[in-house]
Amino acid sequence: MPKFVEAEVVVIGGGPAGMAAALSAWEYGMRKIFLLERNAHLGGILNQCIHPGFGLHIFGEELTGPEYAERYMEALGRTGVEVLTDTTVLEVHKDRAVVAVNRGGIWIFHPQAVVFAMGCRERTRGMIRLPGTRPAGIFTAGCAQYLVNVEGYLPGKRVVILGSGDIGLIMARRLTLEGVKVEAVVEIRPTLSGLLRNYVQCLQDFHIPLLLSHTVFEVLGQERVEGVLVGEVDAKGKPKGRLRHIPCDTLLLSVGLIPEVELLKRAGIPLCSSSGGPFVDEDFACDVPGFFACGNVVAVFDLVDYVTRSAERVGKRISEGLRDEKPPLILVPGKGVAAIVPQRIRERREGFLYVRPKESLRKAKLSLVQQGRELYHVSVPLCRPGEMIHLEISQIPWPKERKEVEVVLEGEKHVDLFSGALYCMSSGMSD
Ligand SMILES: Cc1cc2nc3c(=O)[nH]c(=O)nc-3n(C[C@H](O)[C@H](O)[C@H](O)COP(=O)(O)OP(=O)(O)OC[C@H]3O[C@@H](n4cnc5c(N)ncnc54)[C@H](O)[C@@H]3O)c2cc1C
Repeated sequence: MPKFVEAEVVVIGGGPAGMAAALSAWEYGMRKIFLLERNAHLGGILNQCIHPGFGLHIFGEELTGPEYAERYMEALGRTGVEVLTDTTVLEVHKDRAVVAVNRGGIWIFHPQAVVFAMGCRERTRGMIRLPGTRPAGIFTAGCAQYLVNVEGYLPGKRVVILGSGDIGLIMARRLTLEGVKVEAVVEIRPTLSGLLRNYVQCLQDFHIPLLLSHTVFEVLGQERVEGVLVGEVDAKGKPKGRLRHIPCDTLLLSVGLIPEVELLKRAGIPLCSSSGGPFVDEDFACDVPGFFACGNVVAVFDLVDYVTRSAERVGKRISEGLRDEKPPLILVPGKGVAAIVPQRIRERREGFLYVRPKESLRKAKLSLVQQGRELYHVSVPLCRPGEMIHLEISQIPWPKERKEVEVVLEGEKHVDLFSGALYCMSSGMSD
């Protein structure tokens, strides 16, 4: 027989977003709160991120991932939030029933509010249609990070990394420190995908080459990866020039993260095609009353501090109960904008508006436009797809009229800081 549990709030996922959301619900007076985590420990992806760089905005100091997570675990320990680890949520229904399983059997929670905080997952080889054989030695960068930092195994001795996302950059440094030869980071786009600071600290400081506008055209090897064929691409991603062979025994993929939204689909929560997560308002409430989402399940945020901030907003709103609200103001990404969060603005008008640029621009202007009329603008000297721009929602003079507001980013095209300068391959590569 399943166990039926009445609750005020059920939070799904015990990473930084889930922990901060549960704490925020507690701080605003909720008392029957369950935090459900499928792993044996709270902390989410932070547990495998043993490098520093977490918490600069929230704590004003550079913590490692586990240190950052520990601060929230300790705070949770001082509350009455019921934490169920080793508990996987299987389904969430439209009536907010949350079905979970653990060693104790099946649980069906009936909360007044459900908070989705399941984070994101990595794109895999199949998703990027990587051609070649299917030997051992191909890992996602996050999987390799788990193997090295948590399990204590090295994935290989000679590595090529495809994609310049942050996890790939961090793994290039991590593997180098462990004595692995990282031959190159290969990026199909003309710009770096990750944070600039990670490029400097993880590649430049260790003399690891970054090949922009390049990709892996073929994986070689039968039993184990023996090398990759790498070549330059044109603006449309088509091959340009000769392919070069880089011998290696391991290929890591750092080719993007996608919000983990399967549970939201079943619950009928509307999703945004540009962010990959649900539509949310400034309190991270979804379009369906009683459902909230925060952290990387909403959009892949650059920093854990932004993730925590998003989660801290849900408690107050939950404490106000389900109320009839006026239709929100709808925000849509316009020219030059890849994604925005939140996409709805209601009465509160607090928190941050996050904007992901589509391309690298300099001397740019970020403006909010309604029916052709500019409501507000700020200058952005330099922006890149790898770094979100964030604005304080309270600073923006929001219009009374509830017509769509477009977020537009215009400026001079700027082919990243490094373009053209990095085709300096290390030894070990031949034409
Ligand atoms: C390699 C790497 C390096 C990073 N470096 C930095 C950095 O230097 N500085 C920085 O600020 N940020 C960094 N980040 C980003 C930061 O770690 C993430 O933004 C943050 O962990 C996301 O928090 P989250 O709670 O949304 O998701 P996660 O941390 O992924 O947590 C989601 C949790 O949900 C659980 N879950 C998922 N599905 C279910 C289910 N069905 N049932 C129960 N539980 C479920 C998962 O097990 C997981 O514990 C890095 C991230 C990575 C991957």
